[in-house]
Amino acid sequence: MPIRQPIISMLAHVDHGKTSILDKIRKTVVASREAGAITQHVSASEVPADVIREISKPLINRFKIDIKIPGLLFIDLPGHEAFTTLRERGGSLADLAILVIDITQGIQQQTVESINILKQYKTPFVVAANKIDLINGWVPQDTYSFLESINKQPERVRELLDEKIYSLVGGLSEFGFDSERFDRVTDTTKQVNIIPLSAKTGEGLAELLLIITGMCQKYLEENLKFEVSGPAKGTVLEVKEDKDLGITADVIIYDGTLNKGDEVILGGLDGIIKTKVRALMKPVLPGQAKHGERFIYVDSVSAASGIKIFAPNLSNAIPGTLIMSVEGVDEEQIKEMEDEIRSQISGIIVEREGEGVIVKADTLGSLEAIIRMLKSEGIPIKKTGIGKVTKRDVLDAEVVRGLDKYLGVVLSFNVPITEDAAEESRTIGIPILSSNVVYDLVERYKEWVKHEKEKDKEMLLVKVQWPAKVRVLPGTCFRTSNPCIFGVEVLKGRIRKGYKVMDEQGNLIGEIKGMQLNREHIDEAEEGMRVAVSMDRVAFNKDIKEDMILYSVITPDTVSQLMRTFDEELTSDEKDLIRETLNIIRKARLKKVGKT
Ligand code: GDP
Repeated sequence: MPIRQPIISMLAHVDHGKTSILDKIRKTVVASREAGAITQHVSASEVPADVIREISKPLINRFKIDIKIPGLLFIDLPGHEAFTTLRERGGSLADLAILVIDITQGIQQQTVESINILKQYKTPFVVAANKIDLINGWVPQDTYSFLESINKQPERVRELLDEKIYSLVGGLSEFGFDSERFDRVTDTTKQVNIIPLSAKTGEGLAELLLIITGMCQKYLEENLKFEVSGPAKGTVLEVKEDKDLGITADVIIYDGTLNKGDEVILGGLDGIIKTKVRALMKPVLPGQAKHGERFIYVDSVSAASGIKIFAPNLSNAIPGTLIMSVEGVDEEQIKEMEDEIRSQISGIIVEREGEGVIVKADTLGSLEAIIRMLKSEGIPIKKTGIGKVTKRDVLDAEVVRGLDKYLGVVLSFNVPITEDAAEESRTIGIPILSSNVVYDLVERYKEWVKHEKEKDKEMLLVKVQWPAKVRVLPGTCFRTSNPCIFGVEVLKGRIRKGYKVMDEQGNLIGEIKGMQLNREHIDEAEEGMRVAVSMDRVAFNKDIKEDMILYSVITPDTVSQLMRTFDEELTSDEKDLIRETLNIIRKARLKKVGKT
């Protein structure tokens, strides 16, 4: 059985150099081959075996690697969420991953997310410690080999590099990974290879390609055997509207052969889509188009390959689902295949009763990553979907707002927002929060909730009375009536202008009209403060007496609001005070009932 190219996926924190490494690889391939001999892919770049041989010539003897694979296929998608899109249930379509880490920055938030994804899918990986050229004193060398270059670096630079590598080793060990610079790895089955490189100068590229090749050959050979003639199996990466072709799907085929005219099944928003491939297209290399054409039409394509498919009924296709050719496959097997696709979608595209946020995303993989993160944060989800944010989503969020205002929101990941959705969102005040970084999207939501809660608290504080217990200070009556002005000490809680107060028997005394501290008007007085208060319609020595204890009048209604919103701010003393006050009110009511 032939071996297909392994599919390599890159994961990285933003700006750590994923695109630059891919660009460097692509340029290197183009520079070392005649343009006509390069196989172009959609959403992927192929590095043929002879290019790997050429680049890593000086190392092949040292590492004793006999290159047997036909080459490497690098999947080229933005965002590490793409990786989840690429993994198939029960296995992983990305055969091997490169975790790119900017050596000057170390492990960052999305690096952590990536490590967790790699752990979850048990995908073998190497670490590309990128941007070594930024190490103080680095002297760039004209070579693709890190080992060749490092030998020519000053001693201090070598030490600096090692310091950075060991801080990476330390960081990775926190996630349970034993790692080491590749040339010091002693146990290849247990240690993760760290390959220092520079996407800018190309130093280290030789080792990166060669080590990946070696790992694929050593550990993945069985996985890479495939039936060339069998029906094609692949993953839909993107569904795009092309200005000339209409709706097309960019697909990675990782098993079998796909032919023009083949009947295929894939996941759609309204169930399984069954359609016939009308055209298979590969991109034309820049500068190769004779008549401005963008694609070359081919009759068939074998694994592993990135290809654009044109077929009817693709508009509802879900990026991230499996696509399988059913040509010559019996009914029974087709049913199984359809179930496989359904199980891939179930649990990811959901709609349920009750409250929760609404999530719209571009692919099944990104949606899955968002769901996972929302769940880990304990944030409930009402509805998820693939594609644009629509007015319906905003209206759904409005219904949720009626149940729980902090969940009435649409989260949008890498998808457009229709005009009427944006307008509705403005009109009814339902926010649409957008980002194309999973972590960032969830953070944005949390920030929004925090901000809303703070706003609500401020408003509530003006409306609702806080518990308070004050004592009328003896010898501090400044005026006996109209208004009555006297000094109090706040024993517990806090008082504000406008608060109603009662005595220890639960009799309403009056309302605090104003407060002064050292002759300055103030709105609020906290525990321990001694302030002068003024009250209308009360008279000193009649309604108010020296040493009298006054309580802020709180109702069971305001208490539940207080407890709900200010649970963290209320001290245990204040919670006791609430109980004490409610008790007084309850006793006063019972007394009243007893009298009538
Ligand atoms: P991505 O977000 O991971 O795809 O990161 P990019 O490839 O876009 O790189 C982010 C920035 O880092 C860009 O300005 C690159 O030019 C720069 N960069 C990437 N790799 C290297 C490198 O090896 N050395 C240096 N000096 N800069 C780099």
